[in-house]
Amino acid sequence: MNEPDLPTPDLRGQTVLVLHAHPDDESIFSGLTLRRLADAGARTILVLATAGELGGSRVPLRPGETVPERRIAELETAAELLGVSRLVLLGGRDSGLPGGPGLAHPRALAAADPLTLARHVAELADDEGAATIVHDDEHGIYGHPDHNAAFRVGALAAELTGATAYRTTVDREHLHTAARDGHLVHGAARAAATPFGRATVEIALAVSGTDAHLEVKRAAITAHASQLGPDDVPLSTFAAAYGYEWYRRTGPAGVLDRLGNAHLVGAPRV
Ligand SMILES: [Zn+2]
Repeated sequence: MNEPDLPTPDLRGQTVLVLHAHPDDESIFSGLTLRRLADAGARTILVLATAGELGGSRVPLRPGETVPERRIAELETAAELLGVSRLVLLGGRDSGLPGGPGLAHPRALAAADPLTLARHVAELADDEGAATIVHDDEHGIYGHPDHNAAFRVGALAAELTGATAYRTTVDREHLHTAARDGHLVHGAARAAATPFGRATVEIALAVSGTDAHLEVKRAAITAHASQLGPDDVPLSTFAAAYGYEWYRRTGPAGVLDRLGNAHLVGAPRV
């Protein structure tokens, strides 16, 4: 059992823009949040900065199909599962791991002018009336160049629009005790040779979900079948590794806080 007692806020009329670097990040890092926002009646705008062009595919593609085409199709499936109201692709290209050749590509997200992209995101947020923007934290969750870029773009867009910003991260202390080596971020951080996440004390908000929300989150993650399979997110450890989504916040408590904070002071950690 994950969280049996969750607030059920009425968020009709609220719009939240959620920015991520690659298809699958939305499900891994904010799948519960997106689903719960949709359930509460909020409109959610999911913005993907790249199509994950350098992720390869662990399954055979159809003749003529490209990796980004496959990944966008998977993203559309995941977005539907998560109740996303509108999906927008920002048009950057996956930059790959630090030191790799992807960074030299003319459309590499990590080399793009963050202000140009931030203006685009800010315009979207303004058009949609989104007073809340969710984006990677200052460390890019685990330091991948595209996640660092997603931080710069998201933070600038929040500044341009005056939106409350929630900065996506993971609680590395929680993951250390509850899910040692059992979260995809562990392998990703190893591949990028970077530290990851934050200490508990640096995190403002931990969003959790019910067993049903967790089931949806797992289905959304595994919709990205070109990147991972069900064995990569085993049921036995799924709640421990993926049962919370963690955010730092700039500005006063906002829409995401109304989903409830699982880190209640003095409460035993689940
Ligand atoms: Zn990513």
